[in-house]
Amino acid sequence: MGLGLAERSRFLIPVEASAQTSPFGLPFQGPPGPDTWYIRQWYGNTRWAYRQRRALYSQGQGLHFGVDFFAPCGHPVVAIGDGSVLAVDGPYGAAPHNVLVRHPNGWVSLYGHLLARSSLRVGQRVNQGDVVGQSGAPTGADCDTHPHLHLEIRNNSLSATTNPVRLIEADWYNLTLGADNEGLQFQLDLNQPEIWQTISDQPDVRFGGALLNDYGRTAP
Ligand SMILES: [Zn+2]
Repeated sequence: MGLGLAERSRFLIPVEASAQTSPFGLPFQGPPGPDTWYIRQWYGNTRWAYRQRRALYSQGQGLHFGVDFFAPCGHPVVAIGDGSVLAVDGPYGAAPHNVLVRHPNGWVSLYGHLLARSSLRVGQRVNQGDVVGQSGAPTGADCDTHPHLHLEIRNNSLSATTNPVRLIEADWYNLTLGADNEGLQFQLDLNQPEIWQTISDQPDVRFGGALLNDYGRTAP
């Protein structure tokens, strides 16, 4: 059984941070390109996330709770805003290495699947554009298998994530370089075909909450 729209709305999380719409920048310094970085998977109810809703993404209510950027292993990853380092390789997923930065506006950015442990120290101040680590792959040393940066923006208590698309100033659609895959398409709920179909229309995720997309009537 899927949830009705009213029930789903109960899971939406109020914005805790400032009303500023796009306070952050992208997590890379140079321009996108096939050999540098580009968008591989949107945040939200992607077709890939739907398929993985009871496995990879079960703790994220069935949604992909960050944005994935393709980048070759070793490509520098930079802070999306000023802040201070909250954690280095803490228990926040996105193995094998991750960094969390707390920002003055209340949001926390997470940089995941990094190649190696970051040289940053907890409590260290960083400015937007400072290198926080190098891009890697979920499989660690095997950089041939889906190397990418998983970027999350969490709330102040780290209990929820929100869509980075709405907090980062970018020409998002052009950052896919025209690629088309099931991480860039959204899964259709035939009972509610109007919801969660664009990059900016994706719900917040509360870790450990019930699946938001456990519906059966969907396009093949
Ligand atoms: Zn991801």
